[in-house]
Amino acid sequence: MAKKNKAVGALVTCNLLLVTFLCSCNKPQEPLYQEQILALGALVDISIWGVEPERARRASTAISEDFNRIHTTWHAWQTSPLTRINETIAAGAAATVDTGMIALIGQAKELSVKSGGLFNPAIGRLIAAWGFHSDEPHGPPPDVTTIAALVAAHPSMDALQIEGDTLKSNNPALQLDFGAIGQGYAVDVAIAHLRKLGIQNAIVNASGDIRVIGKHGDRPWRIGIRDPRGSGIIASLEMQGDESIVSSGTYERFYDYQGTRYHHIIDPRSGYPARGVTSVTVVHSDATTADAASTALLAAGPQEWWKTARDMGIKQALMIDEQGVVHMDPALAKRIRFEVTPSPKLEIVPGL
Ligand code: AMP
Ligand code: MG
Repeated sequence: MAKKNKAVGALVTCNLLLVTFLCSCNKPQEPLYQEQILALGALVDISIWGVEPERARRASTAISEDFNRIHTTWHAWQTSPLTRINETIAAGAAATVDTGMIALIGQAKELSVKSGGLFNPAIGRLIAAWGFHSDEPHGPPPDVTTIAALVAAHPSMDALQIEGDTLKSNNPALQLDFGAIGQGYAVDVAIAHLRKLGIQNAIVNASGDIRVIGKHGDRPWRIGIRDPRGSGIIASLEMQGDESIVSSGTYERFYDYQGTRYHHIIDPRSGYPARGVTSVTVVHSDATTADAASTALLAAGPQEWWKTARDMGIKQALMIDEQGVVHMDPALAKRIRFEVTPSPKLEIVPGL
């Protein structure tokens, strides 16, 4: 799954959109274990609090195996179970898929419907045409006719029939790409695994897709939200128990071609990289839903992001537009602390 092609695909991004924010509170004697692993083509930060280091180290290794398994299963452009499914359904045949994969594909279909097709993991061909099925995204961008034809072919999750463990589609233009959801999914799998291992207090941060459980001693975990215009943190918030916070940003994957910048989040309605929004951050219980939503809200654009959040059942979200104005709902606004001076221009939208 090319996450964020970065997640699953292979793009190493150095720009963590969300960063764990522990430095100021990490006293040397505290039982805080931190490790960074390279998985899904991206950096994954693991923080575990309150268990002895050897147990934490073993848990980190287990998680890194989870990430690697997910990476090889869902890779969107190197031969993988996913590319084999794509070949089979494009030929009009039924693909038999293992249960674990079917569960995520079914969930992605539901999320896609709720987003009104703005989160559309069926647009693999468009993503490839834009040069993002590559470890190093590159131009030239596709020509107008190619984009128009790919949009007119209406690849959508509606055209994917899921029956038991088989997948079929009557639309040969449908090509699955789970880059928008893969990292969030992997984070959920990792947190479930940690829990199974008896770990109650942890953060898993896969390039800005974060899920938090428990606390950092007697204090909540505090998470920083990356400033889309620089390398610092624009704001932070304390996490409440088991919660996920996921961002999508136009600067996570992009290339410049003849003076124009092309980023990796495609508006399925136009077939072009989405315009008007620089980043979106979603707070939700599970990271898979938050990941699908962050992509959908960015694709929705500055006028419709809020409606899309509502449609997807998201209660807390923040959008930064191309002018640097921060838009957020009142519930999230109560929790956010800006970390830059002066604070950015802020617009509070109606409650979600
Ligand atoms: P994220 O960083 O979670 O927003 O995911 C971005 C990745 O999702 C891209 O690199 C593409 O692989 C894929 N993608 C781009 N646009 C869309 C879209 N509208 N719906 C679903 N997946 C998308
Ligand atoms: Mg996403």
